[in-house]
Amino acid sequence: MNSRQQPKLSERVERLQPSAIREILAVIDRPGMISFAGGLPSAESFPDLSGLPLPREVLQYGASEGEPALRERIAAEVNAIGLRCTAEQVLVLSGSQQGIDLVAKLFIDPGTMVAVEEPTYLAALQVFRFFGARFAPLRPRQALAGLDADAPPALAYAIPSFQNPTGHCYDAAERDALARACDTLGVPLFEDDPYRDLAYDACERTPVCARLERAPWIYQGSFSKTLAPGLRLGYLVASPELMPLLVRLKQAADLHSNRVSQHVVLAQLRSPDRAERMRRVVDAYRRKRDFFAAALQRHFGDLARWQTPPGGLFFWLDLLAPIDTRALLPEAIERGVAFMPGELFFAGDVPAHGTMRLNFSHADESGIEQGLTVLAELVRCRIEL
Ligand code: PMP
Repeated sequence: MNSRQQPKLSERVERLQPSAIREILAVIDRPGMISFAGGLPSAESFPDLSGLPLPREVLQYGASEGEPALRERIAAEVNAIGLRCTAEQVLVLSGSQQGIDLVAKLFIDPGTMVAVEEPTYLAALQVFRFFGARFAPLRPRQALAGLDADAPPALAYAIPSFQNPTGHCYDAAERDALARACDTLGVPLFEDDPYRDLAYDACERTPVCARLERAPWIYQGSFSKTLAPGLRLGYLVASPELMPLLVRLKQAADLHSNRVSQHVVLAQLRSPDRAERMRRVVDAYRRKRDFFAAALQRHFGDLARWQTPPGGLFFWLDLLAPIDTRALLPEAIERGVAFMPGELFFAGDVPAHGTMRLNFSHADESGIEQGLTVLAELVRCRIEL
């Protein structure tokens, strides 16, 4: 018999919603399941780590900021993409998801207003909500990026290159508009950029943070999509005044990131065949995207609208009928196909028409064909009901 008393938990933890994706992730490993759900990079893209020597010193505790040589290397690469920074402005993270947590801790109290794209990255919304954020829409095509000049948000969170979930890449005008809005209103910009290297078509990718003149900023990147997510390594670069606080928050969270992973990542960044490996990865993803686009056209041509994403890992579908895609999910899973209902990615109002996010990098070609056949059938049935 269990007579353990109910503990008094924090108020914060009441805002921790059950993750809607858990139910999806719980089933995607089932044998035979075709998954368009996660953002999993394909395992063929992972580097071969056999033969990589491991110095014993990386088994010791290390610096909270990260390995000095890795910070130097990251700073050089971030400068090369147009964002000026020094190695002192680099903080190595245990995955860029940790950056979201640290930045939320830095800016968000219960009731704090955060501006986000609609839709936006689900797991960022979860973290921001956990700390009690309220949300305002960020719309780079509108005046002042849609921000309220009388009550500006405490933070603007954006994924300008190959956005999760829409795949959208801001053009130069949108980048300029967001930077001008943040500068004008003094709104700190948090730019999340894990997909920038997965570019299949030419597009503007200079960080928006590089266009800022006055506003505080945090720019973050990830090694999950270009190397391997299991390494759990990312980084952030911040305007200098934010760094001491971010380093303290990092220290309180986990002392420092895994030094074995940092060693592996640095070796990969220095590897002579890195550029060739990346080219192969990007070419393979581009082929996958093109295959997926053609299959979508065949199966969803009369059911949905979408833009072929110029980079990243996702197609975003706007269905032409008001279909509750969340209600569709159990049926799809029953028939062996997983996807992400679009409504999960909205902080505010969900559009009346159905939306879905489809990852194209994980399933193989026959899985894509079969999975889209099933999804299109389910959508068509709902329309004809
Ligand atoms: N930000 C965005 C927009 C993402 O899509 C993801 C992962 N899917 C992350 C952050 C977290 O990535 P990681 O912790 O693996 O670096």
